[in-house]
Amino acid sequence: RPPRPRIAAAIRVVPDFPKPGIMFQDITTLLLDPEAFKTLSTCSLSVTLTWTSRWSQVRIEARGFIFGPPIALAIGAKFVPLRKPKKLPGEVISENYDLEYGSDCLQMHVGAVQPGERVLIVDDLVATGGTLRAAISLLERVGAEVVECACVIELPELKGRERLDGKPLYILVESH
Ligand code: 5GP
Repeated sequence: RPPRPRIAAAIRVVPDFPKPGIMFQDITTLLLDPEAFKTLSTCSLSVTLTWTSRWSQVRIEARGFIFGPPIALAIGAKFVPLRKPKKLPGEVISENYDLEYGSDCLQMHVGAVQPGERVLIVDDLVATGGTLRAAISLLERVGAEVVECACVIELPELKGRERLDGKPLYILVESH
């Protein structure tokens, strides 16, 4: 199979998880297929390797952590986790954001990203775009330049891409 259909086929859709009406895109089945996982890393690399200046990568917990390390190792970029509250032990900077019901928060260690650093934000999936938007805002508050966001899957009907303040969004698979 060509690369992207293989990646799409390896993602399992679980109906009604975590609540009724949600069609959950389960990327753990993609990880069970080493060829698909390798293909995914190679596809991502072909994009990120075209960048020239020094840059860093930021990933959103927890599934976002799975897809970045192959890229970071290949190009020698730093890895900065963005985490939910009470996970990071050092001094943190926080970004609160609204969900459909309620709110959530992303945190990053103070000093992990320097002003002027170029950053790629990686996550597994973009739905409403609220999570990526919060990550962009957090990074811009510390003076970073968010060059691009990259996700494995996009749910295009939710138009999350329109909430990213014009930042490019690279995705491998669209899910409907
Ligand atoms: P958004 O903020 O764009 O509405 O939601 C994206 C965030 O929710 C991502 O961090 C992603 O991990 C998580 N998420 C929402 N729906 C799904 C899903 O169907 N599958 C997976 N793997 N993650 C999801």
